[in-house]
Amino acid sequence: PSVINKIAAGEVIERPASVVKELLENSVDALSSRIEVEIENGGVDCIRIVDDGEGIHPDDFELSVASHATSKIVDADDLFRVQTMGFRGEALASIAEVSQFQLRSRRRGADIGMELNVHGGILKEPHVCGCPEGTRIEVRQLFFNTPVRRKFLKTPATEFGHISEQFTRIALANPNLHLVLRHNDKIVYELPATHRLIERLELFYGSKLTEQLIWVESEHEGAHIRGYVAHPSQSKATRKGQYLFLNGRWIQDRSLQHALSEAYRGLVMVGRHPISFLFLEVDPNQVDVNVHPTKSEVRFQNSQILYRLLLSTLRNQFLSMDL
Ligand code: ADP
Ligand code: MG
Repeated sequence: PSVINKIAAGEVIERPASVVKELLENSVDALSSRIEVEIENGGVDCIRIVDDGEGIHPDDFELSVASHATSKIVDADDLFRVQTMGFRGEALASIAEVSQFQLRSRRRGADIGMELNVHGGILKEPHVCGCPEGTRIEVRQLFFNTPVRRKFLKTPATEFGHISEQFTRIALANPNLHLVLRHNDKIVYELPATHRLIERLELFYGSKLTEQLIWVESEHEGAHIRGYVAHPSQSKATRKGQYLFLNGRWIQDRSLQHALSEAYRGLVMVGRHPISFLFLEVDPNQVDVNVHPTKSEVRFQNSQILYRLLLSTLRNQFLSMDL
């Protein structure tokens, strides 16, 4: 079973950035207002995430690292109504399987905290510890017991690049969170909470770029679109600057990507990948996020609605600008 667990772990945890993604999503789910991420050596040596969220109840400690245990599904139907980020209950178990894992947590208002250590899937007895309210997870020596996977890791700089990208997706989707990212004790991003998406975008891309963005917003048949896109006459083409979020989570979607390129077709601009930060909201019943464990690909029951809405929203916006 231990071998099977380690193979299963590899499904979800491919590299340090996968750990960061799962831990960040958990901290968001736990209604944190401040999350700090500390990375050592591209995440290969250490990944540490500290949040001020609701914490884990002492009774749920061992369960939280058990496979397929989650506090987020009440019955099978809930799988189709997932609103929170995580819902499969396998991330912590998978991470703890292939690392030296430490969990410390104190529930809001609780007198004491708890600590649990797991070394390569082997649980030590949890014990009481002093810690602030919230949750702190430390993941050391990732893949120490799966040498092949460890060997396939790239340089620390490359691995950190992937981590930074995961951090960016969460940061753009949640401007209301105070977020900090450190690498080897240096601050890479310190992002104060804001109500304004544009302020967060400015911290990432600078005001030179954000000044060129235009706001779009529309609604049709229960589907909403809002966000910023490049001005058609000035946009720079870059894959990096294209972000799509569905119901608060980053997604990759070829069809919507295509709608975006189509909207800019024939307009003056370089290339076909306009910078965009678009937030789509649809009824969660209409989306199956459960396509792949890493959850960035989604399946829509009616993908045509969003495609047409995105295309027409942008086209109408550009028409009104009299380009
Ligand atoms: P999932 O997120 O799919 O439920 P995970 O393996 O990611 O599964 O997490 C297992 C459980 O551990 C969660 O359901 C949650 O109850 C608890 N948990 C994990 N991280 C945190 C956190 N930062 N704050 C509070 N609870 C957490
Ligand atoms: Mg999770």
